[in-house]
Amino acid sequence: MSRLILKNVYKRYDNTEKKLFAKKKVQNDFAVKDLSFECPDNSFIGILGPSGCGKSTTLRMIAGLEKITGGAIFIDDVRINELLPKDRNIGLAFEDYALYPPLSVYDNLAFNLKAKKTPPDTIKAAINRVAPLLKVDELLTMKPSALSGGQKQRVNIARAIVRQPGLLLLDEPLSHLDGKMRQTLRQEIKRMHREIKCTTIIVTHDQIEAMSLADVIIIMKDGELQQMGTPLEVYDSPVNEFVAGFIGEPPMNLLRSVIVKQENNFFFAFEGSDLKVKVPERSRRLVSEGKKVTLGVRPVDVLITRADTSTPVPVAVYENFGDERRVSVRVGNELLNITTTENVSYNRGDIIQLDFNSEKTHLFDPETGKVIKI
Ligand code: ADP
Ligand code: MG
Repeated sequence: MSRLILKNVYKRYDNTEKKLFAKKKVQNDFAVKDLSFECPDNSFIGILGPSGCGKSTTLRMIAGLEKITGGAIFIDDVRINELLPKDRNIGLAFEDYALYPPLSVYDNLAFNLKAKKTPPDTIKAAINRVAPLLKVDELLTMKPSALSGGQKQRVNIARAIVRQPGLLLLDEPLSHLDGKMRQTLRQEIKRMHREIKCTTIIVTHDQIEAMSLADVIIIMKDGELQQMGTPLEVYDSPVNEFVAGFIGEPPMNLLRSVIVKQENNFFFAFEGSDLKVKVPERSRRLVSEGKKVTLGVRPVDVLITRADTSTPVPVAVYENFGDERRVSVRVGNELLNITTTENVSYNRGDIIQLDFNSEKTHLFDPETGKVIKI
């Protein structure tokens, strides 16, 4: 167990490194900018963001595989900027398994302990403790080439924790695996974390993975931290349009609107559309006539209603997924998506009226993308 702190960490790759990565998007900018966060002892942190936002760079800096350009990293209050990777007491498991092909699973697991001249009995005890946690106890005599992708990744993670690291770093460990296997291994990683009590960071671009595994999620974009919070916090109270659109499936509707006033009522009006929806009571004092706002509302929080809360609009798309139904209406150039578990059925062109769950609408400043706090 360890406590990890990053303070104003920056990373800029120099030009020589860039040439080697010519295929990747070359940027003169920082790959990671002013990143600060704290992972308490025994926490499970998810770093989530689109490809190229600096997740792996962050993890590699923590592991000591990448020099940091600015700032400081502390493990248990010790500044570790210059510490060699092997002296950081960190376990790593990355997307590509990198198991040693000629060695059995047992010897793969034992490799680092042997290198540290750990007595064989101690190695055996450590492997016997870890192997069942990741269900690799049946695989110990096999060679990596005989393992499935899921099994290889289990061995990879087991290898990372066999040394009882203070910090476990997982970089997209599930992204090679198919849907069912991902789900199984996800549950096993969660259980393993409870058992071994090791501060763990998982990097992923998959929000389901981050939401289901982590106690706290850090959302990054373009090298910068956007929001850090519990899964519920980032879902319910996104601080900006990016987080709002990134968390949730289907994503939150984000519609540019202008406030209009009709007979003492305020409405959201949308460019290129006749649709007008009443501004919920809760948001009334935040708006004034003519104000431009981005309206954020999750598909589950758009209600189809008989009340006179909007102008009537035709259904553009209706899909029945069995457990839920999705209805979309056209708003200018965009679709406003609605999901409902109610047993309703529509045809394209049917006329409906909409309302928004007043507790669940979000307003963003279209200039900055930042949430307008209620
Ligand atoms: P992620 O893991 O979120 O997909 P990375 O941390 O791998 O993102 O990359 C962040 C940025 O740094 C990207 O623009 C990427 O092209 C760049 N980058 C990553 N590794 C290197 C490297 N070794 N040399 C130069 N640029 C790199
Ligand atoms: Mg990466």
